Order: sequence, then C-alpha cells, then structure tokens
Amino acid sequence: MDKRVRVRFAPSPTGGLHLGGVRTVLYNYLFARAHGGDFVLRIEDTDQTRFVKGAEEYILECLKWCGLIPDESPVVGGPYAPYRQSERKSMYKEYALQLINSGHAYYAFDTTDELEQMRKDLKTDEHSSVQYDHNTRTKMRNSLTLPADEVSELIAKGIPYVIRIKVPENQTIIFNDMIRGAITFDSNLVDDKVLLKADGMPTYHLAVVVDDYLMKITHAFRGEEWLPSAPVHLLLWEYLGWIGDMPQWAHLPLILKPDGNGKLSKRDGDRLGFPVFAMNWYDPAKDETTGGFREMGFLPQAFVNMLAMLGWNSGTEQEIFSMEELIQKFSIERVHKGGAKFDFEKAKWFNNQYIQQTDNITLAALALPYIKEKGCNPDGDFLVKVVALIKDRCTLLPDFWAQGHFFFATPETIDEGAFKDKWNEPKQQFFSSWINELNSLSDWTDVAIEESAVAHLPAFSLKKGDIMLPLRVMLVGGKYGPGVYHIAELIGKAETIARIQKVLAMLA
Ligand code: GLU
Repeated sequence: MDKRVRVRFAPSPTGGLHLGGVRTVLYNYLFARAHGGDFVLRIEDTDQTRFVKGAEEYILECLKWCGLIPDESPVVGGPYAPYRQSERKSMYKEYALQLINSGHAYYAFDTTDELEQMRKDLKTDEHSSVQYDHNTRTKMRNSLTLPADEVSELIAKGIPYVIRIKVPENQTIIFNDMIRGAITFDSNLVDDKVLLKADGMPTYHLAVVVDDYLMKITHAFRGEEWLPSAPVHLLLWEYLGWIGDMPQWAHLPLILKPDGNGKLSKRDGDRLGFPVFAMNWYDPAKDETTGGFREMGFLPQAFVNMLAMLGWNSGTEQEIFSMEELIQKFSIERVHKGGAKFDFEKAKWFNNQYIQQTDNITLAALALPYIKEKGCNPDGDFLVKVVALIKDRCTLLPDFWAQGHFFFATPETIDEGAFKDKWNEPKQQFFSSWINELNSLSDWTDVAIEESAVAHLPAFSLKKGDIMLPLRVMLVGGKYGPGVYHIAELIGKAETIARIQKVLAMLA
C-alpha cells in the first residue's frame, strides 16, 4: 500500500508572509486534503540571527485567516513534536557525526578572517565569488587537511568548528521534480555547505532533511528559490541512507512583478501601491508596518482563490473555485514551470466576485469594522439593507464606507458644482414645495417617494430627469450611489427632508 501522504510548510519566522508563501501553504494544503493526508506546519528557526519576535504568531494568524489550518503544528502538537526546530536542536548532531564517520562530512576550524582571506586570495577575474568546495577545501584548516590527532586535540580544547558536507567531484546529481521533470546539477558547482554551526545548531540544509525524514514527509513543495539547495539535500538523503524515503519534490514558480521583470518584492508593492503580505506586518526592529491583503479589505476566500490561479489552472475557463472545488481539481502536475505575473487588478476582480456571492448578513458583519472605524455604528438590520443596495459597487471592504457613508452620517461636503449650472428658480420652488408633500407622505417607500415626486413635477413644468441629479447630490453629497429613491427610503423621512432643506438654504 502507498504511504500516507504527508506534506509540510516550513517557514522561517523572519518577517511578514509574502503572498508566494501563502500560495506554497495553499498548494500543500490542497494536495494533503485531496489525498486524505496530513498537512504539517514546521517552524524553521535555527538561524537565531534572523529570528524576529512575533513572526511565528503572525504566520499562524495568516493561516487561520486563510482557512488553511495545519493538522500538526507547534500549537496543536502532533505525533512528531516538537515542530519548532530550535526545540529539536539535540536531535541533529548525531546525523552530522554519522556523516563524518561515513566520510561524507568533515570538521572545519577556519575562522571568519581565514575564510575572508581565502576568498580574497583565490579570487580571479573569472571566479569573483570563491566558494568553500572541492577546489578550496584542500587549502583550508579542516579534518581533511589536518592530521587526525590534531583534529581531536582542537575539538578537545573547545576550539569552535563547523561541520561541512563533502560534496563529491565530477558527479551529476539528478532528481525528478513533479513540475519540472528531471533536473540535473554538476556537483563541481556545489559548495560544501555548513551542516552544523559552531553554536551546535544545525543549518537549514541539515535540519530540513532530518526533519522531513523523521516527520515522514512524502511530498515537499516549496518556492523555486530553493532549487539551488536541492543537490545538497539530495546528497544528504543519499549519505544518510534514506534515499528510499526521500519526499517527491515540486519547486513552485516564482510570483513575478506585474511587468514580468523579476520576483515580486515588498518594495514593488510599496512602489506600485498594493500589498504583497497576507496581513499587515509590524516590524519591531524598524518600528514599521507593511500593509496586507486582509486589512486592505480582501475576503480570505477571494485571496485564496486568486493565489490558486497564480501558477495553476484547471485547463478550463473556470476561474472561481470554492475550497472544495480546488481540493477536487487541483493537481501539482498542472502547476506552470514559468513564473506567474501578479496582477493587482485581477486580484481585485476576484474580491469583487466574492463580495457579490456573499450573503448580505455575512457581508454586513465584514463591512462593519470599516464603518465603525469612521465613528458610525449602524443598526444591524439597517446595515444589511444598505449592503444589499451597494454591494455591486464594492470591490474591497472599505468601499462599503466610501460607497455608503451617506447612509450612516449626513454628508460633510456637497458637490453643488455637479448641478449648479442647471439649477433654476422652478427647481428651487419644486424642492421647497415638495418637502411639504414628503412630510405628509404616510407610506415611506422608494416607490411612494418617487410617485410623489412625479405627481408634483408638472406644476413646475419639470420632468423626472430634471430633479434626479440635484436630489442625488443633496442626499449623497456627490454624483454617485444607488437609486436615489432607495436612498431616501433608507435614510428616512426626517433625514431626507433635512438634507434637502440644508442644500436649499446653501443655494438660496
Ligand atoms: N525554511 C525554508 C523557508 O523559509 C523552507 C524551505 C523548504 O520548504 O525546504 O522557506
């Protein structure tokens, strides 16, 4: 029988979660759900110098917002706990020593100064960045060049060392990527990566292999930027004797800038005015907040749907997929090899689609915080009615304020310029007279209000179209909004009359 599918998302808690990171989570999650498997969250925090306070909590919150809840994680635990690599520190050294004993790794005692000197000395015009590799390791202070007793002595004395992998010469390293097919690397170009650091912590390279093995991971999906690390990982799987258990790899395409020129970065988002992080990220070191999709007013379902399509398609024209449909239809083999251009307009289109699909009660609850933020606190039933009326004009959640503020508060400014050039005495008289009619109108509905206007117009030789724009500006403040008689109905009789009176007074 096939092994139970187990996938993992293995972020380093170093900052905000880029939308590419969330897409990696999503593809892992969809694959796990489709195969009845497990989705593991493992925090890769072995590089203590890059650790950022709050980043792990932030990642968990992002996953929760997107509805991509891991089955095993540092929070809920699981059969392979702990799920934070810093808490697994003691597990890694034995594997590094096993590699030394089998001749696939070695101790290296070089100081930072010595490493720098080597880079300087060996630099040539053709090789500007010198690596620690099969060429250079023979010239350095390590257990390949020093006599065994000296090595033992240095270790006994407590001289700091790292353990490096001994990458073989003249080998072709090959593996089969689920998206890209066979990928080959020339071992001569791969450097002898550090596996265990002087502080006893493993590096990412050792920890990721050991943990994927110990946690029985069957498929590893990660960003394309990790492709250059793959040969080192492959050698480790082989040298540790685990090659039969190695997960199947899939390296996901980059998410590109809108013009397709290179990887989408946080700076591009700042420059072009859209978020690249899932949620607002507060960087404690810089005391700086970077905006996120959540706070900008995206619905998580729309965000997730948009991400699913960024590098994958079902082979049909369909673009809107529920999570259940994605689980059914997603296949990792259909993920594109080439980078996916990010298109913010398209992201907003998805959000608009989801807003139209969402029921009004749910939408009202989602819009409420953006209305409260402006100091208004509308009644629940009233808000549901407003939402129903304006949702087709809303793309992001804050639009419910922008498109509907006049339902919750008297407009602060009136764009009288919008109708002033066509304003005349008959119109002034019509409105002054009509408000008395309105005052005695018993049935306050959009239909009744409109009928009352229509009945009153001929006395002033006016037509319906003559009063629509002024009435709209009086009630709304500008030339926008849903049906004007609907607005009057919802804001109520007293408020409608008061707004008309206010503008008449301004114009008098
Ligand atoms: N810790 C790596 C990261 O921060 C994980 C890469 C992998 O999935 O192997 O993205």
